[in-house]
Amino acid sequence: MMQHDAKAGSVYLIGAGPGDPDLLTLKAARLIQQADVIVYDNLVSTAVLNMAQASAERIYAGKRRGNHALPQEELSQLLVRLAKDMRKVVRLKGGDPYIFGRGGEEAEVLAAHHVPFEVVPGITAAAGVAAYAGIPLTHRDHAQSCVFVTGHLKDGSMDLDWAGLARPKQTVAIYMGLTGLPYLCEKLIEHGLPADWPAAIVQQGTTPQQRTVVGTLATLPRLTEEAGLRAPTLILVGQVVTLRQKLAWKEECY
Ligand code: SAH
Repeated sequence: MMQHDAKAGSVYLIGAGPGDPDLLTLKAARLIQQADVIVYDNLVSTAVLNMAQASAERIYAGKRRGNHALPQEELSQLLVRLAKDMRKVVRLKGGDPYIFGRGGEEAEVLAAHHVPFEVVPGITAAAGVAAYAGIPLTHRDHAQSCVFVTGHLKDGSMDLDWAGLARPKQTVAIYMGLTGLPYLCEKLIEHGLPADWPAAIVQQGTTPQQRTVVGTLATLPRLTEEAGLRAPTLILVGQVVTLRQKLAWKEECY
């Protein structure tokens, strides 16, 4: 097995996966154990953080909707500073660092400052959540493609290619879409998907708190509200959602 030791003065941009600490890669686990400083966001589970040495400094860089603990620019500068101080720096993010995680922006700043860095991919929410919810992202009978989009509402709308999303034989995985769910469903129907097109939303997937609500584009917003789901949630739209009836293994269907 290839061993990998953290180097002083380097930054490791690491994906911590969607929640279940067992979904961490071996490389991530090894580097976390060797770090002397860990800069983490709010989606990183405590169990993962607890793998670090007791002496490791932990810096919360959290990002909750509308409440950025540290502005992105300051955060990137902090990583540069810690590396220049010859620390072993781990930048820990939920899921995969390069999927809706601003890992790309942080890496750009590190590169501009000639700070050596490595990227350790993680299991992104769509992959982890779909697996634990019993919903294959692709399936020969139901979906030949899968797209990942952000459903973050900006000024009450989403800047998405609706025609490209509202397609049969495709699965759409929507990150950060809880608040915008009614808008999202409405737009997909408007652009041609049937109102009874299958859709599901999963809260805190892969954790013991995982909850899934299944419905259609027409019913999901109401069902989600009734169930009182809270972020983080992942929305999955497409015929593959129907497979959950047979394939759910982690929690009961309801
Ligand atoms: N880099 C991360 C995504 C960061 S954006 C990744 O690759 O997964 C944060 C969004 O990810 C959340 O708003 C939610 O939509 C999704 N997410 C992350 N963890 C999740 C989980 N355990 N269950 C459901 N959704 C999750």
